[in-house]
Amino acid sequence: MGGLKIKKGDRVQVISGKDRGKQGRVLRSLPRERRVIVEGVNLVKRHSRPSRDNPQGGIVTKEAPIHVSNVALICGSCSRAVRVAYRFDAEGNKHRYCRKCGADID
Ligand SMILES: [Zn+2]
Repeated sequence: MGGLKIKKGDRVQVISGKDRGKQGRVLRSLPRERRVIVEGVNLVKRHSRPSRDNPQGGIVTKEAPIHVSNVALICGSCSRAVRVAYRFDAEGNKHRYCRKCGADID
């Protein structure tokens, strides 16, 4: 198993699909499905009945999960959509780093 290389709060860019090129922040990660929910990406319209939160009912726009392979992390250091790799520091803690510029991501 293992987690995803993309985590909640990361800034990502969509690299394939209808939303290609869009950027947003990861709102949720769903490691079991290998999917993430990204702010403003893969919006779907849902028809809903009137409820307390939405007394009118009608159409609600919401982000649907997209597969993690369709997004790339935006490196805070080189500002490009990059692939991420792992390395261990001297204390043995795992960190993500940018494969393009080599900067630590966390
Ligand atoms: Zn970088």
